[in-house]
Parts: sequence; structure tokens; C-alpha cells
Amino acid sequence: MSLSSIQTCFELWQSRNLSSDELKRHQARKLRAMLRQAYDHVPFYRKIFDKKGITPDDILSAEDLYRLPIIRREDIQASPVEEFRAAGIDLQTCVVRRTGGSTGKPLNILTHRQDLEFEALAWIRTWLRLGLKITDRQVVIKDLNDHNFSDKTRWFQHLGFLQVRYVDLYKQVPLLLEELANCQLEVIRGSPTILGALAKEISKTPKYKEIRPRLIFTRGDILSAQVKSLLEENFGSRVVDCYGATEGGCIAWQCPNCGSYHVNEDLLVVEVIKNGQLVTPGEVGEVVITNLFSRAMPFIRYSLGDLCRIEDKTCGEHSGTLCLQPILGRTADQIVLRDGRVIQPDFFRPDEFEGVLEYQVIHERIHDGRIDQLTVRIVKDHDLHQEMLEAVRQKDQEFLGRECNLSIEFVDSIQVEGQAKFKRVISKVLTQAES
Ligand SMILES: [Zn+2]
Repeated sequence: MSLSSIQTCFELWQSRNLSSDELKRHQARKLRAMLRQAYDHVPFYRKIFDKKGITPDDILSAEDLYRLPIIRREDIQASPVEEFRAAGIDLQTCVVRRTGGSTGKPLNILTHRQDLEFEALAWIRTWLRLGLKITDRQVVIKDLNDHNFSDKTRWFQHLGFLQVRYVDLYKQVPLLLEELANCQLEVIRGSPTILGALAKEISKTPKYKEIRPRLIFTRGDILSAQVKSLLEENFGSRVVDCYGATEGGCIAWQCPNCGSYHVNEDLLVVEVIKNGQLVTPGEVGEVVITNLFSRAMPFIRYSLGDLCRIEDKTCGEHSGTLCLQPILGRTADQIVLRDGRVIQPDFFRPDEFEGVLEYQVIHERIHDGRIDQLTVRIVKDHDLHQEMLEAVRQKDQEFLGRECNLSIEFVDSIQVEGQAKFKRVISKVLTQAES
């Protein structure tokens, strides 16, 4: 264990429960240091500041960030890699990670090893806050062939703490359950999609009922109310969801006290933006982050492409922190109707309906045609109340109006391409001939 590891642990522990004022001061200090780092060492950001005619000294806190433009993955991909990495950084001290390619081209992210450790410890801090014990045996279900995966034993694991066993996401469900049954595990971490598939199998096969973790941590996909209760029922566990990204680490965690997602504001600045402005409670906006610890490749006012609303209530236990509502989906999941109205991804959430196992929305616009077609594909089970679903469809059809036809199609299965983070909507423009 190195001196920097001790410092990292100490810093994270110190900042975990700051009062609202202390947190703002801490965040502003980290922000100013990160902006200085970006301005002095990263050509892309230097040019942005120069173009705006400002310097890092003009931005004192998160409230001043509006003076900088929002950047997106495409902006980074359109520039040479040297533009985004800190000049002179020793590449031997860094790792390259790749973000998921669900929204198109993957992005390579350069992270200093020390910052990566900070990010990993920040995740652990969050799980400890949410009930993980350092002596728990954890199983993580993930893609073991993933470019970013590493099962390197960390210093605290050499001491016997926070033991993790990795199992392969792509194993067949019964084989996965066999492996879990032999683990004597206390905690499972994985995506709602794979855990939901395991829970369904458990409900059909009584012998797997002995898999009883105390806690389940989900991340990486939308946790619907239905999947959450499926997990609670079949694993007999408490389920806690977290929101994270390779570009920002652990961004927010679902609070057991109030149910909303509290942002780790000592690690990053989160803004929820619509038309260039911060949203007010109730409005949907895109999640824009400023990472406060990633020095090798800073992310300043970076849009993750995720949509959410902010909470207007404050939490009794964690007052003063920014609270998000659950992520609704990707900006690519918004549907723009012919009259300009924007349909948010949570307009169709049939998975909150009992008996709907999976769904996908197909939006087809016929080029030169007069109406759009929206088809909600549903995989159902016998609990589905079809008359109720039809009543909802009729209500939604009235809202959509005559330029958009809404229909429901029952299918046996749904093909999701790749590791489609949150992606539930497919939009196509067809020519008259294709239709
Ligand atoms: Zn709370």
C-alpha cells in the first residue's frame, strides 16, 4: 500500500459526509484545480478558454461553468488524441479504457493509474455507504472479455477485505446460477438485465432459492420497478441502484432513505441541461458532468447523452446535495414528432406494467409520407392485463394525434444490439418503396 493510496482513502473518507456549505467549498476548490490543469496542459480546453476570452480564474465555482460550452463524445472523436490528453503525461503511468459502443463509435479514455484507484475507491465508498461490509463475499457478473476488465488483486484484497469473484455474463443462465449457488455469496453486483434473467429462472427452479445475497447492487441499465421487485422477491435481497460512467466514475447512488439518486458532488459537478439552461424540477434534461479527478484526460462540461429530471424535494439525511430522478434513457431515445413535440423515453414504459417482461419502441418515419408509425414491441407473460394495456394505448394515441399511429405488437423475444446501455428506441426513416 503506497502513501498515495493512504491519502486517497483519507480524502474520500473526509469528504463523504460534508455539510452542504463545506461540500460546495470542497467542490469549488477541486473544480478550480481541474480547470487549471486542463488550461495549462490540454490543448483542446486551452483553445476553448482562449476562444471565449476567459481563463480558469474567471470560473470560481460550478455556478460559473455556464461560461464554457458543453462538449460531446463526437467532439472528442473529431480531434486528434493529443488534443485531449495532458501534454507530457507519461503514458506508462496510465491505462486506456473504452466506453461502451451503444451510441456508435466507442471512445478511448486515458486515465492515470492513481486516478483510476481514486475512482475505484470512490465506488467502494458508495457501496459501503449503502450497506456493503468489508468482510462480504461479493460476486460480480460482467463481461470477462471486456477490454476494460481487470481481475488484478488490490492491496486491500491481499489483506482479505472486499473479496470479489467475477463470473462471466455470457454464461448460460442455469450455469451462472450453479456457479452462484456454490459461492456462499453475500453481495451480487451486475446489470438489471442479467440479474432480471437470473431472477426469472430462480422463480421457476426452486433449488436456486438457496441463493440469498443480503444485497444486490445494480448499474449499467435502467432498473424498472418491475425488475426491482422481481429481484427482491426471488433473491430475497435489498436492491440498490447506482449510476456511473467510465467518464465520471460513480456519479450518483439511490438513497435508501428518500429513493432519489444523490450525486457524489465531491467527485464531480453534475448539471442537468435543457436548451443550454439548467432544468427546473419536472423538466427533462441531459446529464452533463465535470469530472474533478481525471487529470490525464479531463472531462469538463461533458454530456453523457443520458436524460433525467432533478428532484425538487430535499432528503432528510443528505440535505443540500443534488438529487436526480432515475435515468430515463439516452438522448437518442427521444422521439421528435412531426409537429415538433418531443416524446421523452419514459412516455412508453410498459415494463412498469405487470406482465410486460421486455419492450422496445420502433419509430418509423416514411420519407415524404404524412404519418409516423410507432410500434411498441412487448414480450408478455400470462399476468398481462391486455384490456388495461389497450386503454393506455388509446390514451397515448389521443395524445400523439393523427400524424402518428401507435400500435402494440407482441413478440417472443427482443434483440438488443450489443451492450445497449439504456437503449430502448429504434428510429428509422424509410422511403416509400421500403414501407
Ligand atoms: Zn436521500
